[in-house]
Amino acid sequence: MDFHCHLDLYQNPLEVVATAKKQGTFVLSVTTTPSAYEKTAHLAKDCPNIETGLGLHPELVHQRFSELSLLEKWINSTDFVGEVGLDGSPRYRDSWELQKTVFNHALKLSDTHGGRILSIHSRQATTDVMDFLEPFKYKNTFILHWFSGTVTELNRAIEIGCWFSVGPLMLKGKKGKNLVSRMPQDRILLETDGPFTSMKQQPLYPWDANNMCIPELSEIWGLDSSEVDSILAINKETLLSERYSLKV
Ligand code: MN
Repeated sequence: MDFHCHLDLYQNPLEVVATAKKQGTFVLSVTTTPSAYEKTAHLAKDCPNIETGLGLHPELVHQRFSELSLLEKWINSTDFVGEVGLDGSPRYRDSWELQKTVFNHALKLSDTHGGRILSIHSRQATTDVMDFLEPFKYKNTFILHWFSGTVTELNRAIEIGCWFSVGPLMLKGKKGKNLVSRMPQDRILLETDGPFTSMKQQPLYPWDANNMCIPELSEIWGLDSSEVDSILAINKETLLSERYSLKV
């Protein structure tokens, strides 16, 4: 499974889709701009195991703020919203106020449409992200993508009910490993964040997530890989059973 992947940004999206389909890899294909949503969703039209999220990436808010109204246009066509969130890095400081407006808008829109499953970016902004999520936690399901906050922030995220999508690079470092060891086993999903991540100069693909993460999780949890595999499979099913619009 890959709960955070930018399918439309690979050099060869159609090949990636075909391989994911053949291998039965579940993919949450997130978008960075609402104007990319329609085309990206179209890539997956014949693949029941690929879902497309409607997003506006915090790093692009300063250029794409005018696309905000497109979120409204597409919100009813998907159960998934992402990539959305906040980025507190110095590079994006100028757009901080706009970022907050966009993120709050995406959360409100999800909420008023019955709730959504959201893939959330929180780099250097974890506490602010939590403050935004708190009032919307009743109807929506949050997946924190590549969580990199402190242990205190992690505990707050757990309390809010967040899920966590973790990837090969997060599991390589000491900090990431420590955070993952403190996350509830039943709220962990896998991701690649491809094609922005690579190993040995090769971009990561959705089907790499299980292969690369299971050995690490097996070590962290002290379980054999088949046990890890079945925990993750159950988590995926549990998360996907939270689809909202189907229930409304
Ligand atoms: Mn991403």
